[in-house]
Amino acid sequence: MSTEDIDQASFTGCGNSVISATDSTVCRKYFTNGRVKYKLPLLYHFDMRLHATRLTGSSEMHQEESRRVHLLYMKCFDAELKKSILPMSSTKSVPMALREQVVRVHTEAYVDFLFGLQARHMEGPDNEVLRFSPLLVSRMFSPEDKKRYFSANKHNSSATRYSGGSLKAALRSSGAVIRAVEMVMEDQFLQSRVACLVRPPGHHAGPSGFRPSVSSAGFCLVNNVCVGVAEALNKYPGIKIAIVDFDVHHGNGTQDIVDKVFKDEDVVFCSVHLNENIPDDHDLDFFPGTGGYRNDERVLSVPIDPLWSSQKEDGLTSNTSNEATMKRPAPASLTSSSSRKSRKTDATDTPLIGSVHSGSNSVVDDIESSGPDNDVASYPKPLHGRLGFREAFEKQVLPKLKAFGPQLLFISAGFDGSLNDEGCVIENVSGLDLNESDYFWMTELLVKHSGATKVISVLEGGYGRWDATSEMYDLSALSNNYLAHLGALLEKPT
Ligand SMILES: [Zn+2]
Repeated sequence: MSTEDIDQASFTGCGNSVISATDSTVCRKYFTNGRVKYKLPLLYHFDMRLHATRLTGSSEMHQEESRRVHLLYMKCFDAELKKSILPMSSTKSVPMALREQVVRVHTEAYVDFLFGLQARHMEGPDNEVLRFSPLLVSRMFSPEDKKRYFSANKHNSSATRYSGGSLKAALRSSGAVIRAVEMVMEDQFLQSRVACLVRPPGHHAGPSGFRPSVSSAGFCLVNNVCVGVAEALNKYPGIKIAIVDFDVHHGNGTQDIVDKVFKDEDVVFCSVHLNENIPDDHDLDFFPGTGGYRNDERVLSVPIDPLWSSQKEDGLTSNTSNEATMKRPAPASLTSSSSRKSRKTDATDTPLIGSVHSGSNSVVDDIESSGPDNDVASYPKPLHGRLGFREAFEKQVLPKLKAFGPQLLFISAGFDGSLNDEGCVIENVSGLDLNESDYFWMTELLVKHSGATKVISVLEGGYGRWDATSEMYDLSALSNNYLAHLGALLEKPT
């Protein structure tokens, strides 16, 4: 560890105790058995805190706050974890992605837009915080799309924010994934797995940011995972890469990039997520509104029904769910978070003429056209909650990976499917109720049985439970879920 790594670790501005008794229990549970011999590198950088999300002058908390990643980073210095995790946060360890690396997966126009916004700001989290999605639509979308977006977006979906430090945070995050690719591919220190603790998240960012048919950019600016995938494809042509996304929201941006930018590459995308589109009630559609069942050569997309639409017909009594999780939310309760709402997309996939290889490192603008990209087929039976999530992993994702045979596996690791997490709870009504044992189990399954010898984990969502008493997000469950995930990353492959 460099001096700079240690300096950053000593920063305690997040205002939380480093570790609690509960965390120590989790540490003992997931980090003490027989594991691989090396420490798991965990990449993080202070710049990721510079992305401010609370609107200027507002006292309203935003769930995608910098405290979530910094607290997780601090926990890795606990005595129990020091033996297993190698925190790395120096500028040398975690470089920023270069513009030419970002433009491999995003359009020139979108990247110009991001950098142009940056020019408006002085750097630092205290400068003006902008509403990103409406700005993007105003500047880049066609008049017809603008009309469609602003008329449908009656809740003013603008939960994605852009501040003076946002671009730096986003480039540092995607740069961490690029660095992770280098580390696992070159087997540095014999480490074939790396965790990237990054923000803002990335899996909703498609080639042009987001589509006008989706209500928001979902807190994402740059698709961190795809920038890393493009780097691997560029340096190691022909490599077989799988991306598995277990964030509670469909990774619509990643799926778009896989379909359009990686269309000639050996890349497979698997997403298991909550999906509920209630006919004629667009207010209740769960963000981003895409992610119907699809299983073809390139994409596996498995929607899971939320517990609020279930009546325990599938043996959910063994869950940690309480009675409240079985209630369907009232429409009035949905106005608090624009990130949960969208209207169903009516766009289709128009392939781009892009390449991730050097010499042709840009993508052309994608054009929306008619036709569905959702609900391509129906899953044979409805899957509900955490048991449904596990079944999807065991019976859909794992066979897909085994048939494909990836050499490199990226995990879009989102923890917002957790019990009471702000990402999938609506006024105390939970969606999936995943817990730390589920995250350990899913990760272990991937690490042990996917066939990929090199694994990179990249943080997506996961925001904690809103605590009305302290008026803060309680990050305890997020922390435990993340630690369980890290512990599983150290499992030996079979
Ligand atoms: Zn999410």
